[in-house]
Parts: sequence; C-alpha cells; structure tokens
Amino acid sequence: MIVVSALAGMTDALFACAAAAADGDVARARRSLDDQLDRHDGIARSLLQRPGAALFQDELERARNAIAGLLERFGSRSEEHPALRDELVSYGERLSAALLAATLAAADLPTRCVDARRCIVTEATHGAATPLWPDTEHQTRAELIPLLDAARVPVLGGYIAATRDGRTTTLGRGGSDYTAALVGAALGAREIQIWTDVSGVLTADPRVVPGARRIPRLSYAEAAELAYFGAKVLHPNTIQPATDRHIPVRICNSQAPESPGTIVATEADVWPGTVKAIAHKTGITVLHIASSRMLGAYGFLRALFEVFDRHRAVVDVVTTSEVSVSLTLEDARSLPAIVSELRSLGEVSVEPHRAIVCVVGEGLRTTPGIAARVFATVRDINVSLISQGASRVNLTFVIEEGRVREAVQRLHAALFEREPVPADVATGGAA
Ligand code: ASP
Ligand code: MG
Repeated sequence: MIVVSALAGMTDALFACAAAAADGDVARARRSLDDQLDRHDGIARSLLQRPGAALFQDELERARNAIAGLLERFGSRSEEHPALRDELVSYGERLSAALLAATLAAADLPTRCVDARRCIVTEATHGAATPLWPDTEHQTRAELIPLLDAARVPVLGGYIAATRDGRTTTLGRGGSDYTAALVGAALGAREIQIWTDVSGVLTADPRVVPGARRIPRLSYAEAAELAYFGAKVLHPNTIQPATDRHIPVRICNSQAPESPGTIVATEADVWPGTVKAIAHKTGITVLHIASSRMLGAYGFLRALFEVFDRHRAVVDVVTTSEVSVSLTLEDARSLPAIVSELRSLGEVSVEPHRAIVCVVGEGLRTTPGIAARVFATVRDINVSLISQGASRVNLTFVIEEGRVREAVQRLHAALFEREPVPADVATGGAA
C-alpha cells in the first residue's frame, strides 16, 4: 500500500494561502493557489487518458470550490484559524493521493484512494496533532484490510488525520513519513519504505567526502544519532511506531530505484570497531561555565539549565567536570542574554564558529582503542569538548569550524578507506 506526500511546493503554497486569507486578502489567497492547481491539472493530462483524466479534473474542480469556501471562513475569529488551516493544507495530500490512484488505475493496477482521515485518529492540536494509537490501529485495519484482501492497492495521503469527531488535523511538517510508519505498524507490515532522492544514508556528507559510501544497514539507535545532523535519515519520532514493533524501515532513491538503499532495523551490523558514519555540523557555539560553587553542591546544574530553558535554547552536547560545564548551542540568537544570566553562576567563556563532529556506530560500545584512533587522526586540531552519549553509539567532539572539512576527510580516510568492510558484513552477517 502507498502513502503519498503532497506535490513538491504544494504544502508551502497552501500555508502561504492560509496566511493571506488570515490577513483578510481572500482574493490574493485564491490567486496564490491557481498555479498549483493548474500544475496538478497539467500532470494529470500528461499521465492520464480521457476517462481517468476527466474524473481527476472533477475532483480538482471540487477541491477548487471547497478551497474558495474555506478561504471565506477565515474572516471568522482567529481562534478558528488553526482548524481552518489544517482543513486547507489537507488538500495537498488529498489531491496527490487522488492523482496517484488515478495513475495506477490507468496502468490497470487495481487500486483505491482512501481518505487518510478515516485511518489516522488524533487529539485536536491543529498543526501538530498526536495520534491516538488504539483508535488509529483499529480504524486503519478496518479501512485497509478489506482492500488488501480484495487485492486492491490502497493509496492514501500522509500527514493528514482527523479527531474522533471528524475534524481535520495534521501531524506536523514532513508528517507523511510518520503516517507511513503508523500505517505500517497498524498492519504489521514486513517493511516500510521511504522513497526520497538520495540512495539511503552515506558514511559522510558527500560534499565534504566525495568518496562517501552508502551504508547498507543501520540500527534504530544509530539512525537516531545521525538524524540530528540532517543526514537523510528519518526523524526518530517519525519511525517510533516502526521501532516499537521491530519493523525495518528502508530508505530508497526514486532516482535510482535499483539501489538497495539503507535499511534501518533493530539489529545492525556490528563488528569490532564498526563505525558507520562520520557526521558533522557547523555554526555551533560552545559555552564554558566554571564555578567553584559547583564543587560538591547540588542544584547548580538545575539553575544552569533553567537559564537555557527560559530562553528556549536547545543544548545539544554537554560535558561536565567537578567545577565546570561545557555545552553547545546551535542557535546563538539569545546568546548575549544567556551569557549575562550565566555570569551570575560562574565565569563564562564563549567560543563561536565551532563544529560538532560525531562518529557513529554500534561497534563503539565494545571496541577498546577507537577513541585513541579517532583523536590520533585529528591530533593537531584543538578539541574543545568531548562527549560519548548514553546510547554509546556515538563519540562526539567539537573543533574549530575552519578545520572541520579536513578533520572529517581524515577521519573518513582512517576509519573507512584503509580498512575494507569484512566480507561477511557485506552480506548481512555479524561478527
Ligand atoms: N506535505 C507535508 C509537508 O510538506 C507533509 C510531507 O511532505 O511529509 O510538510
Ligand atoms: Mg514531504
């Protein structure tokens, strides 16, 4: 069965349209969608013959009218806007599901377009609704199993859902992958595939390391660590329903469908020294806070983190000693205010223009000497903090931004290019 996203750019256009309507400019809002709706029409014409094309065009006209009606309702109280916006943006996935179902039918594949709002049940937080599991599982099975039994391919829109009483909600931007994981979990799928435009996850950023290779297999924990670095890995929350049920998630490339991609599953390949990837992120600021008041005292870290809490600043990496704490921030916008508040707790120093480098692999748990190898490789580069996460599948450190390319290239050469992958691992065995 197939879960689709909206066409590229459609959801953004729908959000912009909702914003224009909320500003009171309904005419501009309507006009802003014309190109998008015409694009659907153009794609339908290029993919479909007469009867199928006409059916989809009817659907498109109905959507156009319904959207016009919805936009008028933005004149109401602004408390109603989030609900109206969800209703409006749902047309992206609804139209793309209808278009794909029509295309499959035209290719003589027995199919059925299913309204995802009959499957995914959520609470009522518009824009970022949380699925209600037993209801979702029950509804999804009730809607889809009869179709599967009748050998019809269900096609449904991701991202969109509904409350128990039928009000349209959405799961948050990029939520189609989440829908796929929910549906896969509800049906007990053998595998969930995410089709994107890269051949799975690579051992490093190919813009920095041209020789970066595809990683055949990752554990959920490894994928979760890499997600922060924007490697094309799924957000851990997104695949949680799959993780909980041990359903493998495969990342596939629609531009290279024959590539096996990367499979993310409970068990990963582990061999001594296994390093799967070297990820990095620039634009990081490091803060060091030193205070002898920390020594043997409690409550100090709470006071410290409350400062970040007040400024809603996300802290990514933390290390502490008896008298100091070092941490990283990605978003330095509130930095001056944060620093001035921290000064009441201790001496503060700031290192801007830093980069995080993260070596990821289940093998780090069990391999002695790997840290020595990593740091030997970058021995002439100053390291400002080091951390090994609780999951113990990562070794993270921070260096000067200007030297990060070199560091990642050298690490890649040392950890991947000199040591061939053991033959049994390439075929999925574990040491
Ligand atoms: N169309 C939605 C978005 O753009 C959901 C998705 O693409 O996953 O956020
Ligand atoms: Mg998408």
